[in-house]
Amino acid sequence: MRFYVDFDDCLCETARSFTEIAARLFDKHLPYEEVRFFNLQDAFQLTEEQYQLLMEEGHRTEILLSYEETPGASAVLNEWIDQGHEVCIITGRPYSVCEVSRRWLAEHGLDRAKLYFLDKYGRDEFYKGSEFNLKLEDYYRMQFDYAIEDSPMAFRFFDHLPELKVLVFERPWNRENDLPGSNYIRCTNWERIRAQVAGGE
Ligand SMILES: [Mg+2]
Repeated sequence: MRFYVDFDDCLCETARSFTEIAARLFDKHLPYEEVRFFNLQDAFQLTEEQYQLLMEEGHRTEILLSYEETPGASAVLNEWIDQGHEVCIITGRPYSVCEVSRRWLAEHGLDRAKLYFLDKYGRDEFYKGSEFNLKLEDYYRMQFDYAIEDSPMAFRFFDHLPELKVLVFERPWNRENDLPGSNYIRCTNWERIRAQVAGGE
């Protein structure tokens, strides 16, 4: 089988880190559980300039390397790889953070997973003009059996694969979203994801 796995807030606790940055830089104290919008500018009610600063800070090497692993992510992905499955991490991060992203994966035992950079959030001011290494037309030629994704803004990348099972990593910003179809299943943690895949449902 082939797996699409999102990076931020599936493999690592990115939004938790951003809540700390917003508090440190702008004195905005929003508990993680109250991050109701995937767009962090809306979530923290930031000006355009503040948002830009927040994103730049969150993409600095030391900060990216410090992201906590989401419990169980590495163990489950390695189990799948050991079983002969293919794990493709498809991130919306800009390609400029490729090296540090690979380093984070290596430091968390995930160097056997493939890593692709896809322009998922191109209309967002921070990502505009960024480079990516996976072209949209090449992405659309890839087949997947399962996708693990937290962002409702990325669900449109699954519309062409009606057989795909999308395991939605439950986060405060997607809890109230209606899911697009019966092939979407909410999962609260990696144990649930592992069980879902093992059960073949
Ligand atoms: Mg994500």
